[in-house]
Amino acid sequence: MVRIRAGIEDRCFGCKIHKNFCFCDHFSNLPLKTNVSIIMHVSERKLPSNTAWIAKQALKNCSLYVRGEVNHHFEATQVLSEQYIPLFLFPQEGALQLTKSLVSSFDRPIQLIVPDGNWHQAKKVKMREKSFDSIQAVCLKENYPSIYSLRKEPFAGALCTLEAISYALKEIEGEQVFEYLMEILKTMVYRTDLVRRGYNQLLPL
Ligand SMILES: [Zn+2]
Repeated sequence: MVRIRAGIEDRCFGCKIHKNFCFCDHFSNLPLKTNVSIIMHVSERKLPSNTAWIAKQALKNCSLYVRGEVNHHFEATQVLSEQYIPLFLFPQEGALQLTKSLVSSFDRPIQLIVPDGNWHQAKKVKMREKSFDSIQAVCLKENYPSIYSLRKEPFAGALCTLEAISYALKEIEGEQVFEYLMEILKTMVYRTDLVRRGYNQLLPL
């Protein structure tokens, strides 16, 4: 077995994994009514284990905003659009459970605002940004188990960003998008694990 090292130049631009393990062919353009806006902390940008970038690649109506850059001020007002009902996905005090019945009470499509970064950074986003202050926070209706094993969890049961988005969209959009995103996450986890274990190509399944 030949060990490979995935330097920046060896990585696929689309899915950030070593080119021999690229899973970009899993991305398709599912038509979604929901807009997903991810607010990513700058420290996540270069990490190949970041799942926010994968959500951006996998979803047509998904935008990624970077917060915390030294030379560029993040402007929360630019994220919001009147076309949508904004909901802030974070389990904080006052958060409503995101359920199908909550979703059906809205007369416009939802803009799901998702903070990304470590737990500490994500927690600060809503507090620090005035424009996000009045937005209703929502949380997932259950404590789902995580299949994401590429990073140490901050606490038992913590989900990665792509998982949190998948479970939220399951309520908002339905089963199909959930299955689609979870399949991508499983593929990412499986292939990244192979790279880390030193494999240089995909093994026949
Ligand atoms: Zn790729």
